[in-house]
Amino acid sequence: MLCVPITANNTEDFLRDMRSASELADIDMVELRLDYINDIRTSDVEAIIKEKTIPVIATCRPEREGGEFTGAEADRIALLEKAAELGAEYVDIEHDAIDKFSRKSGAKPIVSYHNFSETPSESELRELYNKLSGSGADIVKIVTLARKITDNLRIFKLLEQASKPIIALCMGELGQISRILAPKYGSFLTFASLSEGKESAPGQLSASELLDVYNLRAINHNTDIYGLIGNPVAHSMGPALHNTCFQAEDINAVYLPFRVEDISSFINGFKTLNVSGYSVTIPHKQAIMGLLDELDPLATSVGAVNTVVNRGGRLKGYNTDSTAATKVIEEGLAEDGTTLRGKKITIVGAGGAARAVAFGLKQKKAEITIVNRTEARAEALAGDLGCGHRRFEELVGLDTEILVNCTSVGMHPNVNDMPVPADVLRPGMWVFDAVYNPPETRLLREAAARGCRTLDGVKMFVLQAAQQFKLWTGRPAPVEPMEGIIRFRLAVSK
Ligand code: NAP
Repeated sequence: MLCVPITANNTEDFLRDMRSASELADIDMVELRLDYINDIRTSDVEAIIKEKTIPVIATCRPEREGGEFTGAEADRIALLEKAAELGAEYVDIEHDAIDKFSRKSGAKPIVSYHNFSETPSESELRELYNKLSGSGADIVKIVTLARKITDNLRIFKLLEQASKPIIALCMGELGQISRILAPKYGSFLTFASLSEGKESAPGQLSASELLDVYNLRAINHNTDIYGLIGNPVAHSMGPALHNTCFQAEDINAVYLPFRVEDISSFINGFKTLNVSGYSVTIPHKQAIMGLLDELDPLATSVGAVNTVVNRGGRLKGYNTDSTAATKVIEEGLAEDGTTLRGKKITIVGAGGAARAVAFGLKQKKAEITIVNRTEARAEALAGDLGCGHRRFEELVGLDTEILVNCTSVGMHPNVNDMPVPADVLRPGMWVFDAVYNPPETRLLREAAARGCRTLDGVKMFVLQAAQQFKLWTGRPAPVEPMEGIIRFRLAVSK
């Protein structure tokens, strides 16, 4: 079930938000966070409960449990008892206050525990669960802070082992996956804010994000898990892209953002979830290689993995960046009836993307020169590939037919930056920018103005994701709709 907390600080706004939430399709109940209302009185509770149209949880969280209520404990309990007496279906009562709450009404007590500093150990969580479930709870609620992504694993285990209805989740950005996977592991409900800025706890996603990006309603016990390993991952387009594909292809799967600091403990820990596949991004593309059971020869040659497939518990690493970039440039050149063979290509950058792109182009017999801010890295990459490298200052004089930007220069938010001086750009030259946010970088604008042919990074992003989809599911990905989604999301996120 999906529950939206109402967090306005006066009764008028509270009623407005309660009505809006109750009218939303796919919302099962609202949580009345009475503690958010300034100087709340019994008359406010009466006005609110009278207007309810869907089931409600009455909550009046004291400061000691992370809430806003600062008044006397007896007044707080009286407000909750009033809400219950007037018809609230559920009352959230803290684990240390259940004895003070009178169960005269039919409201079901949700006995709650909140920990804003950590997620306790497995045995501590188990002990907490036993204590709360034996205290008269109809529903147990245990909410903790995820300090590491692997903290979620203990919450999933708790959910799976609980015999009583239970709400269990991790707060914070690292805990967001527990909010999304709540239906898979059997949480009684998950919370989502009415809109951005109206969250009642750290890491709470909005209802529209949970429903539209993660397709929450389709998640169940059998849903397969996929996700992006990286740091940061908060603004990734991956979840919107892959979840739309799963939905369009009627595949029972969800794609999650995994913000990972320690890649080794993540890979080992998450084996228990049997994650079906991963995308991998900065900074883990190289480090993950040593943690996998098998590597595709192309990934070995490139020296980076951006895709992982789980086949019967064995993790195999692939690189889809390389062929995606090659295909984008090949398709561009095909418009001119020409190919990559023998083309003089200058690649700016010597990081993971440059490595993958350069390897793919080299295979097509292009003549490659690497240029990079840190010269030693250009030299090292050129050495690995068996191609040339030049100093940054030599760029202007280079004989280049295709210029490829594989640096992060020009990427959001530094959209006015250029990776090369404008006088490098000459009429008739092809310019490909791997940066995809924004799609039209300053480099591409300047290049078009100087008569160059331009290719943006969106298509590469879509094609590398499409190959991932194929590797994971065995089915061709809906490439055109995928590109539409990304271009739309990039345009609205400007
Ligand atoms: P990376 O491994 O961190 O490499 C970053 C590269 O950018 C290095 O060569 C670095 O030079 C250079 N660089 C960074 N800041 C610079 C500056 N201010 N001036 C000059 N050079 C600078 O990152 P990556 O994985 O290669 O990604 C690079 C870009 O490609 C990112 O924008 C990423 O979003 C994009 N990308 C796009 C796709 C796609 O599908 N379209 C796929 C992968 C990557 P130094 O060596 O001197 O530090």
